[in-house]
Amino acid sequence: MPLGSAPLLRVSRHGRRPAIGRPAAVRVACSSRAVLWILLVSCVAVSCSAVHRPPVTLHTKSGVVRADTQALAVDVGDELDLVYPHVRDALVGIRDLPPEVWVVPEIGGAAAARPDTVGGVFLVPDDQIHVRVAWEPPKSFAETAEWAEHSRRLALAHELVHFLLDESWRTLPIVAEEGLCDVLAARTVAPLGPMARGLQGGTALRAFGPVQVTVMFAPAGRQLGPMHAVMLAAPPPTAHLADVFARRRVASDIDALDGDPWEAVHRALGFVVVSRILERGGIEGLHALCVRARDEGLEIVPFPWLAAAAGLPLEGERSEQGPTWADAWAAACLQLMDTATHRWIAMDFIDLAGDAVGNERLRRSLTRQLGRDLDGPDDFLRAVEATLWISLPGLENGIRFLQYPPRRGLAIRLDELPGFDALVRAAWRDDSGAP
Ligand SMILES: [Zn+2]
Repeated sequence: MPLGSAPLLRVSRHGRRPAIGRPAAVRVACSSRAVLWILLVSCVAVSCSAVHRPPVTLHTKSGVVRADTQALAVDVGDELDLVYPHVRDALVGIRDLPPEVWVVPEIGGAAAARPDTVGGVFLVPDDQIHVRVAWEPPKSFAETAEWAEHSRRLALAHELVHFLLDESWRTLPIVAEEGLCDVLAARTVAPLGPMARGLQGGTALRAFGPVQVTVMFAPAGRQLGPMHAVMLAAPPPTAHLADVFARRRVASDIDALDGDPWEAVHRALGFVVVSRILERGGIEGLHALCVRARDEGLEIVPFPWLAAAAGLPLEGERSEQGPTWADAWAAACLQLMDTATHRWIAMDFIDLAGDAVGNERLRRSLTRQLGRDLDGPDDFLRAVEATLWISLPGLENGIRFLQYPPRRGLAIRLDELPGFDALVRAAWRDDSGAP
């Protein structure tokens, strides 16, 4: 099974639980729809390609592109020439070989197609990069200009990193290799960098407990109002960080992360660790760890080396960044989710916002708070502020009651985002039964 296809995004619903120490206006409702924190991935595979070779071949400055039509080959050739020098210059320890890129309608071919969330693959035995003709995420990202224009470049940049790494990198754990590909792709394709950081940070956060996602409506100027929340499940506590970073890419290990139900979370941890190592010691710092491991006869870079280079504590270790080691890691995840990423995070949870707007019980509660009826969507947009909270209620010392506003996490004002008014109008129309 390809990376990214496992049922890793199970959502556990959060039932009604009263908030502690807060006004009675606070309500936690059950989401009627599953909300997914979709992680868009590209991957590396050592299984052989079952894909029919595209008929058109184009030699570009950087490599070879094969596609079904000349026009498509030219388009992807231009993208390759744009992306390749950036990726090559960002790396050390690289192979001196032109890449071969196939542009295919489906990754893996019709018989073994990988899911739509997989944008590309690097096939090890064939030494080929395959990218999708069009990479369509199942969420609202597809409607953004950034996605339409740059998503294939993102997949291409990711696979080029896999392709370029030479033997000196072979001691890098597979999640760190995926992290390196994703970090460099996000840097190379700057317009989609915030999307990548936001999603990876949020996904990695789930390694440290269930993440609660809440939409709150409050009368303008008031701090609290009715809420709508879901809890995103977390990996079981047996998934130790050292185990996550204990596997490397080897020829006999087909799709090294295959079958890991928490693959997205684990890859996202690779993103967090690698981005911090690159910030601190550059690509040379990360490469030096791989070379040192090889020179010491180790098969894989030990996890404590990676954690130290990333400035993060080991499990159970005390840390200056927070009361516990998990706090320090969660803070590192939240650091990636800077304001530039908020729009993308909000888009990822737009279904939850739609559910909340359309929830009659929430609206009744809001009406009570306002002291009057809401007169249609325009009145709603004028009178109400909507906030999305991403929080870790159980972080500091095991199970905690929910706190509002969350002490740890981030708040994103939804009503300031483009598209929120359209969402409110649509949800209102659905709810009223009007056409
Ligand atoms: Zn990959």
